[in-house]
Amino acid sequence: MGTNDNDLAESLYDKTYTCPFCKSKIKSKEIRKGKTVFVELDLGLRGKYEPIMPDYYFAIVCSECGYAGVAKNFEKLSAIQIKNIKEKIHPNYKPKVFPPVYDANVAIERYKLALYFAEIKSADFSEKAYIAQKIGLIYGDIGNIEEEQKFLKYAYSWDSDAYIEEDFPIFGIEEPQFLYNLAYLAYRIDKKDEAKRHISKVMTNRDISATLKEKVEDFMEILKE
Ligand SMILES: [Zn+2]
Repeated sequence: MGTNDNDLAESLYDKTYTCPFCKSKIKSKEIRKGKTVFVELDLGLRGKYEPIMPDYYFAIVCSECGYAGVAKNFEKLSAIQIKNIKEKIHPNYKPKVFPPVYDANVAIERYKLALYFAEIKSADFSEKAYIAQKIGLIYGDIGNIEEEQKFLKYAYSWDSDAYIEEDFPIFGIEEPQFLYNLAYLAYRIDKKDEAKRHISKVMTNRDISATLKEKVEDFMEILKE
């Protein structure tokens, strides 16, 4: 017996957001507590869950105007960003209706809308990197390696820029975890030397959590191979 879309739909509820662009009250799907089970934390510190991956639901799209962003900072838009969107939004852009259950392809489509708005509103590098990384990893979930690599490369490049230009916490992430993720991205796109360079900086940081320390040690072993 497999899990069908009906069962999955019952695992979701509507969370209310205020769209920062058109000010409408909108609803977005989120997973009910206890409806998906934590399996493991992978090398990239991404939680694997069954049967639903929570991060398939972290891109929020306004049903009224189509503005899209990520749950982490969805309701935040500066006056300049609103102005940028008004000036740069494609004249034919229309909000799209999505099915209640988001599979990988729907999730990718929603994150791509978030990336489109991140571009036109001139979001920070770190915000674009976060979105690109989600898209890359979800492409990886469905075995599309070409697109996975393309988006993980964007994420690595943008996070490298963020490391130079932005102040910690960068998009809510403190330095050890940020560097760990940068190392992970480098590793995933086959830049092993850069991965080693970033991970060695995490090792020398005294404020790392026990969980992160353990992951760093595992990662160092993998990088030695
Ligand atoms: Zn809106």
